[in-house]
Amino acid sequence: MQKKNRSFSPENLLSEFSPEFLNPVFCREWIIKKIHPEGARCPHCYMEISDIRELERFWRGDQVKCPGCARKFTARSKTILAGIGADDRKLILFMLFFALKMPISQIEKYAKMDKRTLFLYRHRFGLSHKNE
Ligand SMILES: [Zn+2]
Repeated sequence: MQKKNRSFSPENLLSEFSPEFLNPVFCREWIIKKIHPEGARCPHCYMEISDIRELERFWRGDQVKCPGCARKFTARSKTILAGIGADDRKLILFMLFFALKMPISQIEKYAKMDKRTLFLYRHRFGLSHKNE
């Protein structure tokens, strides 16, 4: 897993929040930009992805094949979101509500997320239990 990326946090989301987050494509691209501030690169050999079709796939969150090492990955591979198949909009809602200090039980209700997923997110982000 990569080292912690401070710009991808509930507090940072709150500071950048705008009505544009009601657009799911905006949510997805915001998340990918935050977890890849260096742009589209293979998480295995760090080769930059430059093929236009592969770049489109990368920014859509689809699987990409590295032209260097031929391994397959998505924008979430080997990041804080590795193995999390979550809906981008729900992830944004979680981050927003958490930053606004909403209790987990209410986040569960309004973001339509189960408690186990919420605890996983909280753990991945290294967040404290202050919203209990
Ligand atoms: Zn590679």
